[in-house]
Amino acid sequence: EEFYGLKRWGSGHYSVSTDGCINVQPLADGREISIKDVINEAEEMGLKAPYVIRFQDLLRHRVVQLNQLFRKAITEEDYEGSYRGVFPIKVNQLREVVEEIVDAGTEFDYGLEAGSKPELMIALAMHEGENRLLICNGYKDPDYIRLALLGRRLGKQIILVVEQLSELDHIIELAKETGVEPLIGFRAKLLTRGEGKWATSTGDNAKFGLNTAEILFAAEALKKAGLSHCLRLLHFHIGSQVPNILTIKNAVVEASRFYCQLAKMGFPMGILDVGGGLGIDYDGSRTNFESSMNYTMAEYARDVVANIRDICTEAKVAVPDIVSESGRAVVAPHSMLVVEVFERINKRETLGVKQRPKDKHKVVRDLQGLAKNKSKLGRLERYHDAVQRKEEAFSLFNLGYLDLENRAAAESLFWQICEQIASENSQSGYVPEELHELETMLADQYVCNFSVFQSLLDHWALKQLFPIAPLHRLDEEPTVNATLVDITCDSDGKISSFIDLEDTKDHLKLHPLDGKPYHLGVFLTGAYQDIMGDLHNLFGRVNEVHVFLEDDEENGFYIEETLPGSRIRDVVGGVQYQHTDLCRRLKAQIDAATKNDVLKPREGVRLLEFYEATLESKTYLNIEHTRTKPK
Ligand code: PLP
Repeated sequence: EEFYGLKRWGSGHYSVSTDGCINVQPLADGREISIKDVINEAEEMGLKAPYVIRFQDLLRHRVVQLNQLFRKAITEEDYEGSYRGVFPIKVNQLREVVEEIVDAGTEFDYGLEAGSKPELMIALAMHEGENRLLICNGYKDPDYIRLALLGRRLGKQIILVVEQLSELDHIIELAKETGVEPLIGFRAKLLTRGEGKWATSTGDNAKFGLNTAEILFAAEALKKAGLSHCLRLLHFHIGSQVPNILTIKNAVVEASRFYCQLAKMGFPMGILDVGGGLGIDYDGSRTNFESSMNYTMAEYARDVVANIRDICTEAKVAVPDIVSESGRAVVAPHSMLVVEVFERINKRETLGVKQRPKDKHKVVRDLQGLAKNKSKLGRLERYHDAVQRKEEAFSLFNLGYLDLENRAAAESLFWQICEQIASENSQSGYVPEELHELETMLADQYVCNFSVFQSLLDHWALKQLFPIAPLHRLDEEPTVNATLVDITCDSDGKISSFIDLEDTKDHLKLHPLDGKPYHLGVFLTGAYQDIMGDLHNLFGRVNEVHVFLEDDEENGFYIEETLPGSRIRDVVGGVQYQHTDLCRRLKAQIDAATKNDVLKPREGVRLLEFYEATLESKTYLNIEHTRTKPK
C-alpha cells in the first residue's frame, strides 16, 4: 500500500486486501470491489487486457463531491450567490461518462460546457432541465452560433462566450436575423500567469479571450446593437492542472475586478465563470509540482467563493453566481487502465552470462579481473575501469579485433560489475553522484501489451505522471527494478518516469514474472487520455468495462456494459483499406500460388480463412500464457 503510494494519491478509494490485491471503494464508504475480480469476470466475458475499467459510482461521487463542497463553501462564507458548475465535455466525451455526469448532477443543476461544434451537438441533445447552464466556448462559425440559438429557442440557458471580436459581429447579426435573443459571455484574457503544463492558456500571447481594449470595444458594440441586456457572464480559464492555489486566487481576483467593472458599466451580468484548472494529485505529494497540487478541492471551492465575495463587497457590486468548468477533477479518478506484462528484457541475461569464449581476449580477462577482485578497488574506481574496458571492447570489435563471443562476454561482464556495484551501493550509506543512476541503468524492461500513444498520450507528450501499481501479488515483496515498454515499434513507447516513491522515480519495483498473467494498473486516467490517443502502429482503442457497485452481488459489483476495442478491420478501414478489398487481393495471390503449385489448394483455403479471421480480431497481442517460460 505504502509502497505504491495508494494512500497518498488514492483519496481514500484504494487499499490492499489480505490476499495482496488492490481493492477500490468507489464511494469511499467501506464498500469494496476487488479489481482482480473485475479482471476475472471481464476475462470470462472474453475481454483481454489492455482495457479501461470505469467505476461509474466513483464518477458520480466526484460530481456530488464538487457540488457539495461548493455548497458548503457558500454556506460557510455567507455567500449570497449559488454554484452552477458545468462539465466540460472535451475532457471525456464518451456517452456513458456524460450520461452518468448529467444524471448525478440533476439535484445540483449541474450543466455542460462545449468547446466545438461537434461537442455542442452532443451537449444540446444531452443537456436537460431549464436551470442547468450550457456554456459555449471555443472558436465559433455562424453555424455554431445558430446551434446555440436553436438551444435558446428550446428554452435552454445557453451562453455564447465570446472568444474573438469577430464572433460578436456574427452573434449580433444572427440575433437580428433570427429574432432570438442570445445570452452572452466574454472570455477575459487575464494577465495573471498560469502555472503548470498548460500555463500558456492565459497571458498576452494566449490564443483565447479578449484583452482589456477588446472587452471595452465589445461592450460598446453590444450597447450599439441594443443587446446590452444580453451580457450575463464573464469567463476565464488559466489552464488545466494548476498546481498552485496562489495562481488560482490571483486569477480569481483579477477576473472579479473585470466582472465588477462590467457590472458597474450597467450590464446585467450575474455569472462569473472561473473555467477549469482544479487539479488532481497524481503523485500524492500535495506539492506545487506539475503532477500534483498544493490544495484540496474544498480549499479550491472556499478560495474561489471567498475571493469573489471580497472583491465584489469592496466594489459594492452584488455577488454573482459562480460557475466552474472543472473537468479533470471530476473525471480523472473514475477510470484506470489495466495492462498485462508478458515479457522481461534483462540486459545481463540476454547478453549471455554463459558466454565463455574459447580464446579470451585480454579486454575480457581484464573485465573478469574487475568482477572477481571486488575489494581491491573502490566502487567508483571499479566503475570507471569497467566503463573504459567496455568502450575498449566496442572499439576493438569495430576494428575487427574482437569476435562476437568475446564482445558478448565483455558486455555481460560489464553489467555484472555494475550489478555488484549497485548492490554495494544499497548496503552503504554514501553513494557517489556518478553511481546514482546505476539502479535505473540496470533496471529490467517489462514489456506490456498496450500502446502509450493510444492509452497514455499525455505521458509521452507532456511527461505527465500517472500512479502505477501491480493489481495483485502485493503480499509478496517486489524484487525487480523495472521500467515499462509498450508494443509499438517506437522507442518513445515506454514509461520510464514514475511518481516519486521511496526515492525511486526512474523505475518501479515489481514482482518477478512467473509465467502467469501479471497485471498492472495505471490509475487516474479518466481525463483527456481516452480521446487524445492516436493510432500509432494501428494499435486501436482498447476494450472497456463499466462497473457498478451492487450489494446483492456476491463480489459487490456488476459489469453493466463492455465496449469491445477496435478490430484490425476497423483500424485499417480508418486508413482507407476496405477489408473486403484486402481479402480479394490476398485471395488473388493465393490463387496464383496454387496455380503455380507453390501452395496446395487446401492450404490456400486455410490461409485465406486465417487472414479473414485475423481482420476480425483485436489489434493488440493475443498472449498465450502456456508458452511463457517462467523467469
Ligand atoms: N474550460 C476550458 C475553456 C478549457 O479549455 C478546459 C481545458 O483545458 C477546461 C475548462 C477544463 O479544464 P480542467 O480539466 O482543468 O478542469
